[in-house]
Order: sequence, then structure tokens, then C-alpha cells
Amino acid sequence: MNRNAKSSSFTDTLSYNQMLLLAKYVVPVDAPVIENGYVQIEQGRIVSLGKSADRPFDKDSIDYGQAVICPGFVNAHTHLELTSLKGKVPPTADFPAWILQLVKLIHAELSTKEQLQASTQLGIEQSLAAGVTCVGDITRAPSWSRPCLANSNICGVSFGEIIATGKLRDQWNDKMLASITPIPDTSRIQVGLSPHAPYTVEPKALRECAEKSSALDLPLCIHVAETMAEAQFTQHQCGPLQQYLADLGIWDDEVETLSLTPIDLAEATGLLNARTIIAHANYVSDADINKLATSKTSVAYCPRTHEAFGHEPHLYRDMMSAGVNVAIGTDSLASNPSLSILEELQLLRQRDGIDAQMLMEMGTINGAKALGLGDQVGSLTPGKSADVAVVSLSNSQECHWGDMFRDEPSPVAVYADGKAINIKK
Ligand SMILES: [Zn+2]
Repeated sequence: MNRNAKSSSFTDTLSYNQMLLLAKYVVPVDAPVIENGYVQIEQGRIVSLGKSADRPFDKDSIDYGQAVICPGFVNAHTHLELTSLKGKVPPTADFPAWILQLVKLIHAELSTKEQLQASTQLGIEQSLAAGVTCVGDITRAPSWSRPCLANSNICGVSFGEIIATGKLRDQWNDKMLASITPIPDTSRIQVGLSPHAPYTVEPKALRECAEKSSALDLPLCIHVAETMAEAQFTQHQCGPLQQYLADLGIWDDEVETLSLTPIDLAEATGLLNARTIIAHANYVSDADINKLATSKTSVAYCPRTHEAFGHEPHLYRDMMSAGVNVAIGTDSLASNPSLSILEELQLLRQRDGIDAQMLMEMGTINGAKALGLGDQVGSLTPGKSADVAVVSLSNSQECHWGDMFRDEPSPVAVYADGKAINIKK
């Protein structure tokens, strides 16, 4: 890296008024790749980009050489407050048993404000270091986690989680109010609703969430069709997930059911629309995929978490062919080795041979659109926020920018809101 910045105090808190980033490749995502390109940043915004030979000035420029400058990655589905649980509940094929263990661990290790904020903070730092500048973050305790997000350089949506079934049926209104309470003093974090799943939120409360999301124009995220057991529960109200609720001590005989498949249940309760992100959608039919496409519902696919649970192959390619907006998430570190979207994309490149441009869209603009932030982040477009990742390539002359998905490169520099992030290796 050749730094030509006039200031020597290059820290994570310094926001340059004007700055020029140069590299072998600039990948705007919404426009053709620029070879030997530049990106001009001013006051936290992208001002222009083009060929480095045409760059507007030389002062305050940083040349990353054999590297790719791309938008900061978007993690469309994560739970940053669970970061400290990494490796403590290894995923197994028995999902209901796993989630029961997870809930017990959350009660044991994340029950105080200090514990939850420390874990959230760790998640924010690990995300930014991985080049993730935007998140769709699910939180069980919005009033604790949101100040951490709002005081950081990350942007995105903080979805307040709602669980409301059986003996917890009556808590939904309080959870809803906590979810939709605006965050003061920040424009980088928005609020959203997250009814957890069709087996933990009864249909009446799901409808209320859908109506609130629509009335307030708030994004909504829900885990749907994550396991095969889920359809057993929503159609017949039995199986391992019914047992899970019983083991948690919240099951009662008044739990409402609509006897529908998970996606049909989501449709019947008004949840399929352009403001909704469905996390996972691991077990869906062709008819389900058509419903997701026609309703403009987004899907957050979490490749390494999906693999860790040994699910059947995900139909994300069929979804995209049908017109579904498929974004990428990590889910939490309870089920994933890292919070890196680049590493998720590297898996898809190596396992499925997905084209580099498509991977880049899945890891950036698709997530931004899913979160309702497509006009602010997700591409290197003049006027958008200066959220940028720089990934170095090998020194071989024949390299292609798509090689960032081939090997194991990680970001060498990250900018969020125009500020250089100090990424400790
Ligand atoms: Zn999740």
C-alpha cells in the first residue's frame, strides 16, 4: 500500500474531508468493473469513481495496488449479541435439541446488560474487520444492544426479536413496543421487527407484526422453513419443535395453529411482502419459491450455518432464477465460525462455482435492498455512503478480481461512513 495522505494521524476515528482510494480493480457492483480505478470520498460519501489516469487529484490518495475496492459487505442476517457464544453449542443435525441448548446458554451467559453489550461489541468489531459495514441484526434486548450499534461505525437494521406463544403469549405487545422504539441520535441504524419463527409466535401475533411493519414502513425479519420439523409443527402442531416448546416450559394447550406449511402460514398472516426478509427458507417447494418471488419477499441464505446443520442443499439458485432477491447472512457465531460475508461467498464460489459478479451482488446490494437500504449502501455509487472494503489479490500478473473469492483473502482496509476502520489482524 502506498499512502500519500497528508495527515500522519491515520486512525479509526479520523474522517477525511476528501480522500482518493486507488487499486487494480474497482468493483462498483451496479456498473462495469474499472481496471486501474479510483474511488473519491468526501464527507463520508462516494463522490466519483473512474480510471486512475483520470483521477481528480493526487493529494490524500492511497494506492492499494494489486487489490479490489468494492462496497462494504452486507450481512443480511446475524445475531451479534450471541458472538461470545462462539463454539459453545456446536450445531448438530438435531436442531430442536441445539436451539434448546442455545437458549439455556443465553440465559446463563447473556442475561446482564454488561454481558450482552460486550458480546454485541465484539460482534460489531469482528464484522467491521471482515469488511461487513452493514448488518441485519436480530436482538432479544433492543434497549441494550442498540446503543452499541448506534455508537459504532456500522450501519443497518436492528430487528427486535418477538417470541409470543403459549405461556409467553401475552408478552408480544411489550416486545413489539421495544422493537419499534426509534434509536435517537443516529441515522446509521434503523429499527425493525423480528417475530422469531412460526413455531415461537402464534398466528395472531404474526398478523399484528405484519400490520405494524406495513403501517410504520419498517423492515421485518423472520426465520421460516429453517428445518423440516417446522412444517410438522405448523401443519400438525406436533413433532420435535412442539417438544422443544414443552421442554422450555412455555407450551400450553391453547397454542393456535392454522394447519398450513411454513411459507403458506407466512402468506396467510401477511408476512410475504417487499419489507420482509425470510431467514433461511431451507425447505421450500417450487410453489413456495413463486410466492416469494411474486410478493418480492427477500431471502437471507446463510451458507456456512446451513452446512453446519447438515441441511439438504439450499435452492438459492432456483430462487434467484425465479426472481427472488437472495441476500447472504452468517447467522450467529453460535452456528458459524466467523461473521465474514466474504468467507460465505468464497464457499459458494468454491463449492458451487458461482460467477464473481453474482457473488458480489449477493454479498452487497442484495442485502442492502433486503434491508430497505438499497439507496444508501450496497454499491459504489456517487451519493451513497462511503462504506468500502479493500481486498488484496496475489501478485500474479494474470489475476482477476474474482480471485478474491478463490483463495482466502480478507480485507486489508475497511471504510465505514468514510472513516478508516482500524482492523487488527
Ligand atoms: Zn437467525
